[in-house]
Amino acid sequence: MTTLVELRAPRWHVYAACRNADREVGWIDAEPGSKAAADCKAICLLCPVRLTCAITALTEDESYGVWGGMDEVDREALRRADAQIAA
Ligand code: SF4
Repeated sequence: MTTLVELRAPRWHVYAACRNADREVGWIDAEPGSKAAADCKAICLLCPVRLTCAITALTEDESYGVWGGMDEVDREALRRADAQIAA
């Protein structure tokens, strides 16, 4: 049976390594530099949709959590570097 959550989720979510990861790992709440963030990033390293996830977070300006192996500090550093290259 297809759930409402599955219908609304982008198709790439189906392949996400975190989909069945331990629910105790705080993907959204993980503070940058914390053990929780490191645990999330370790799972991201093996994720087949890591690039898509990272691009989604960057293009949709996700402010919190680990996406594509990056926490919000990583994403901000990438945005700053990109802005410097573009300038
Ligand atoms: S890259 Fe990380 S946060 Fe993104 S879908 Fe994969 S495991 Fe989840």
